[in-house]
Amino acid sequence: MIEELETIGVIGAGQMGRGIAQVSAGAGCRVILSDVSVEAAQAGLDKVADGTGKQVEAGRMEAADRDALLARISVAAGMEGLSDCDLVIEAASENEQVKRAIFAELCPALKPEAMIASNTSSISITRLAAATDRPERFMGIHFMNPVPRMKLVELVRGIATADATFELARAYVDRLGKTATVSEDFPAFIVNRILLPMINEAIYTLYEGVGSVEAIDTAMKLGANHPMGPLELADFIGLDTCLSIMQVLHDGLADSKYRPCPLLVKYVEAGWLGRKTGRGFYDYRGETPVPTR
Ligand code: NAD
Repeated sequence: MIEELETIGVIGAGQMGRGIAQVSAGAGCRVILSDVSVEAAQAGLDKVADGTGKQVEAGRMEAADRDALLARISVAAGMEGLSDCDLVIEAASENEQVKRAIFAELCPALKPEAMIASNTSSISITRLAAATDRPERFMGIHFMNPVPRMKLVELVRGIATADATFELARAYVDRLGKTATVSEDFPAFIVNRILLPMINEAIYTLYEGVGSVEAIDTAMKLGANHPMGPLELADFIGLDTCLSIMQVLHDGLADSKYRPCPLLVKYVEAGWLGRKTGRGFYDYRGETPVPTR
């Protein structure tokens, strides 16, 4: 029986995985950050080093704390080095087949008492848990983007999640200094159930020519007091992730109000996934972002 989650594995060193690695190491946990290759995992760690370096320069973090944080994170490829983990958080791409393939490989590599969590934005925790050998030690731990800045973590139990598993996850979130909120296991949970239809509607508003990218973002920033416009936010989340979440809502709730906007589909098909690929509703390749429509 695990008393406290001390060694944390993170699978997927993208924007979320590296943030989870950073905050976990910042709270004193030992972290193994893994991706499809050591190079991909190292690229994630390099971004943590850059981000925390800027914090030190700005006087928001002590250099010694940053060094200690970085020293607690090691990188790996695939399931390498995860056998000692108390908890492995899967933060790979929002694609159920990808996640299932990861769990199939991960389970035999773990100690029996280890717990597994998914950072999925929308996919059923019960269904993902059923793809593992330990549904009672599986749950959703859903961080927000950017992880170091956002205070909320959604905790989601699958049908089989044991109380002890839930309590360990809650203690881990407390240790990170974040606030946990509990959501039932329904498509996209709470935050994205509400947020993504708004973003999808903003894309329909653009698609139907009601307003330009700039008009829509300005309208919601100044008219609804949102810190980011919905299209800017979509680019920040990643348009592939936005589309996957809408598809999960549409399939899972079978209501046409969740139909992904065809324009969102087109951007994803073009590989214009937002900030992470340099282009989405804005083009980020120059000095300042320029709307693409
Ligand atoms: P991302 O595209 O930035 O990163 C995904 C990473 O997963 C990539 O580094 C990729 O190489 C890696 N990966 C893919 N297949 C893999 C495999 N088989 N093994 C190991 N690594 C693999 O995506 P992200 O935005 O970090 O999202 C990751 C997860 O977090 C998704 O489930 C997403 O829904 C969720 N999430 C995203 C946000 C957001 O705002 N972007 C917020 C909360 C949760």
